[in-house]
Amino acid sequence: VEDGVSSVYAAPGQRGSIADYRPRYGHYIGGEWVEPVKGQYFENISPVNGKPFTEVARGTSEDIDRAVDAAWKAFESWKKTSTTERANLLNKIADRIEQNLEKIAVAETWDNGKPVRETLAADIPLTVDHFRYFAGVLRAQEGGISQIDENTVAYHFHEPLGVVAQIIPWNFPILMAAWKLAPALAAGNCVVIKPAEQTPASLLFLFEIIGDLIPAGVVNIVNGFGIEAGAPLAQHKRIRKVAFTGETTTGRLIMQYASQNLIPVTLELGGKSPNLFFEDVATRDDGFYDKALEGFTLFALNQGEVCTCPSRALIQRSIYDQFLGDGLQRVSKIIQGNPLDPNTMIGAQASNDQLEKILSYIQIGQEGGAKLLTGGERVDLGGDLSGGFYVAPTVFEGTNDMRIFQEEIFGPVVSVTSFDDFDDAISIANDTLYGLGAGVWSRNIDTAYRAGRAIEAGRVWTNTYHQYPAHAAFGGYKQSGIGRENHAQMLDHYQQTKNLLVSYAEGAMGFF
Ligand code: NAD
Repeated sequence: VEDGVSSVYAAPGQRGSIADYRPRYGHYIGGEWVEPVKGQYFENISPVNGKPFTEVARGTSEDIDRAVDAAWKAFESWKKTSTTERANLLNKIADRIEQNLEKIAVAETWDNGKPVRETLAADIPLTVDHFRYFAGVLRAQEGGISQIDENTVAYHFHEPLGVVAQIIPWNFPILMAAWKLAPALAAGNCVVIKPAEQTPASLLFLFEIIGDLIPAGVVNIVNGFGIEAGAPLAQHKRIRKVAFTGETTTGRLIMQYASQNLIPVTLELGGKSPNLFFEDVATRDDGFYDKALEGFTLFALNQGEVCTCPSRALIQRSIYDQFLGDGLQRVSKIIQGNPLDPNTMIGAQASNDQLEKILSYIQIGQEGGAKLLTGGERVDLGGDLSGGFYVAPTVFEGTNDMRIFQEEIFGPVVSVTSFDDFDDAISIANDTLYGLGAGVWSRNIDTAYRAGRAIEAGRVWTNTYHQYPAHAAFGGYKQSGIGRENHAQMLDHYQQTKNLLVSYAEGAMGFF
C-alpha cells in the first residue's frame, strides 16, 4: 500500500486515496491553477501519519491583488445572472460533490485527520445540502414593493455586494468553505477565499472536481499564512465584505482591518460551550438516559476541534456521581484509531501545533488543581501512524473559575463540574466570555425551555447536540462572533438593498 497506512481507503483507486492529491498546488485564480507570484510553496502535512503529502503555494499580497482583479472582472457578468441560473449552478455543484462523495471525504480525512466515518456521514453530505439549500432559498426570496402614496412606489431589489473576502479555519476545511461560498454565490457575489494553512489541500482537491462548473473568476482561492495572505486580503481596498471564521483574537484584528475600509464583517469565533444535565435525565435507565450519556461524550467528536465543543459539562449535584461514572464508562468505549478505518470514531488532531496546545492545557489543568479522571496523554497508535497527532479523550473535574473551564482548548477535553439548582446552572453556564453553543438535557420541557432561553448563546441544543442543518441559524453571542451563518437570513449578510423610489405623478412636486 503506497502510503503505508492500511485501510480500504489507503490504496489508490475509485474510493479515494492520498494518491489522488497532486504533489503540488498553486492558487486557483480566474478559473486556472497559477503559480504564486513570489514562487514560494510550503509543505502540507497529514495529521494521520505526521508526514508531508503535498506542497501548496505560499501566497502574498501580490497574489491577493491578482485574485481580487479576477473576481471583479468576473463580477461584470456574474452580477447579471438570474436567480434561476445561480440556483441551477449551486445544484450542479451539489450533484458533482455527491457523485464524488467518497473521494472527497477521504481527501478531507487525509488533510485534517478526522475519521472517514465522519467525513462520509457528516462533513461532505452537509456540504452537499448546503449548496442545495441556498439554491432553494434564493428562488423563494422576494423583493418588496411599498406603495408610498397614490402615485409613488418604492421598489426594493436585492443586489450583491461585489467581491467578498472569506477566511476559514482548519477544523472543517470543506464544510466551512461551503458555509461561506454557497450563500455568497447565491447572492451574486464573487469570492476570494483563503483556506487555513494547516489544511489547504482538501478545498483545492474539491475545486479540481467542481471548478469547471463555475464561471472563471467567480471563486478564487489564494493559499498561504494568516499574516502573509489573510491580512492583505482582509485589508484590501477593493473588497466589499469580510467573512471570517477562526479564533476570537484573530477576529478582533479582522474587525480592525475592515474598519479601515468601512465594510461589513461577519465573525464566527471561539467558544466554551456548557452542556447542562438536569437531575431528571437519570430518573430511569432507558433510551433517554443513554442519549444523555452520549451527549456527554460528544466533547470528543471531531477530536474536540469544534467551535461549539461541549467542553464544560455541568451536572446536577443530586445525580453527579452516578452520571459522571456512567459517562466515563461511555467515554472508555470511544474507538480511537486510524482515521481511514470506517470503524474509528475519533482520529488525529489537525496539526502538531494543536496537539501541543492541547497537551499544554492538560498540564495547565493539573497544575491549576483540576482532577484528571481519564485520558490526558498523547496516544501512539504504532506502525505508520506513530507520527500522527493523537490525543486520548480527556475528562477533568474542577470548578468554573479554572483556566480549563474558561479558555478554549479545542481538543477532546471536557471540564466537569456540578450545580445545585436551575439558577446555579444558568449562572455557571453564562460565566464565560463566549456564547456560541450550549446543550440542555432534561425530560421536563419547562426546564429545558427556560434553560434554553436563559443561556446566553446563539445555538442551544435541547436533548441533542452537534447537529448542523443548513436551515437553522448559527452564530455567536458575546465574544463568539457577529452575524449568523446557515438559514435563509444568511443572504442578508451578502446582499444590499437597492431602493428605487418612483413617481408616476404627472405634475411637479410643488416645492419650487
Ligand atoms: P485562526 O484565527 O488562527 O485562523 C483562522 C484563519 O485566519 C486561517 O485561515 C488563518 O490563516 C487566518 N488568519 C490568521 N491570522 C490572520 C490575520 N492576522 N489576518 C487575516 N487572516 C488571518 O483560527 P484557527 O486556529 O484556524 O481555527 C480555530 C478557531 O476557529 C477556534 O477558535 C474555533 O472556535 C473557531 N471556529 C469557529 C467557528 C464558528 O462558526 N464560530 C467554526 C469553526 C471554528
